[in-house]
Amino acid sequence: MMVVRRLLTLLLVLVSGACSDHNSRAYHDQFFAFGTLIDVTFYDAAPDLADQASAIIASDFHSLHREWHAWQPGPLTAINARLVQPEAFTVDPDLLPVIQEANRLARLSGGLFNPTIGRLVALWGFHDNALPLGTLPDREAVAALVAQAPSAEDVVIRDSMISSRNPAVQYDLGGFAKGYAIDRIMDRLRSLGIENAIVNAGGDLRAIGRHGNRPWRVGIRHPRQEGILASIEIEGDASIFTSGDYERFFEVDGARQHHIIDPRSGYPAALSTSVTVIHGTAATADAAATALFVAGPAQWTGVARRMGVELIMLIDTDGIIHMTPGMQHRVRFEPGTNPELKISEPLS
Ligand code: AMP
Ligand code: MG
Repeated sequence: MMVVRRLLTLLLVLVSGACSDHNSRAYHDQFFAFGTLIDVTFYDAAPDLADQASAIIASDFHSLHREWHAWQPGPLTAINARLVQPEAFTVDPDLLPVIQEANRLARLSGGLFNPTIGRLVALWGFHDNALPLGTLPDREAVAALVAQAPSAEDVVIRDSMISSRNPAVQYDLGGFAKGYAIDRIMDRLRSLGIENAIVNAGGDLRAIGRHGNRPWRVGIRHPRQEGILASIEIEGDASIFTSGDYERFFEVDGARQHHIIDPRSGYPAALSTSVTVIHGTAATADAAATALFVAGPAQWTGVARRMGVELIMLIDTDGIIHMTPGMQHRVRFEPGTNPELKISEPLS
């Protein structure tokens, strides 16, 4: 069975040869986790070690997803239930670092990446694995939550104790959990002796070590058409994450209602259709893609500077593509697409 799987793997790697290096030994595996197909590739790893490492990280992904789930009962829902009261309590040591990192990124983003708006996300119906609501939430209920303004600033963490000054704080880590999980998985792979790897979660990915002699190219989906708009080159240890309004949405009277909420209005952020960020760590790339999507074409450079990210492509609702010069060097648009480009100043 293992042998069959390895043969299939070899075939797959050869088929996708445009992205891989034929000279290095590539191991390939796939599994479902975090609601998406996770695709792993290891380079130059002994086959037995690769099989073992792949099984370990598949199991890690499943337990992280369960731990961080904001709606299915588990450790995070237990924390959310207690945050409604002002009293401090001890946080599960596995969850403390992820909450601290979410809070840090939220502060850097000026609250545009806001992991404490779980109630708003629920009101819109995007918390459920079932189909979204299909109808607009009650306007007054949205306004009431926006007025309560839950934020990472309301949360106090001392040692392993947490408390919230704002009863509306409810964690939803959906804007960066996949990235944070991939960072954790990469640490795990290194500790297992795998130095060269790509972990790809539905087009959001991180690569470590060497992954062939040529740079890796990642396809960026066209936000309004079938297929790919562009491909972007990544090299070395890097992550690439995209937030798009096409991922989860419903329409009301022809208007798209999607899953990335502007915490300032309580409504889906209406200025961008897609944002791609390349950064060293996946957690920052993931949180920044969400924050910059909310920031939109007029505010993204300031937010990016504060978050320390500098390789960005933002597509606005007119189809204009805003990029940093560094990103422009790595992007190749598909033939026939001639988008209007606006290149920013370098951000650092
Ligand atoms: P992403 O696809 O990484 O942009 O994350 C979108 C998910 O993050 C949504 O499905 C919500 O669970 C959550 N979310 C929505 N709006 C925000 C926001 N402004 N800040 C942080 N998380 C958000
Ligand atoms: Mg994100």
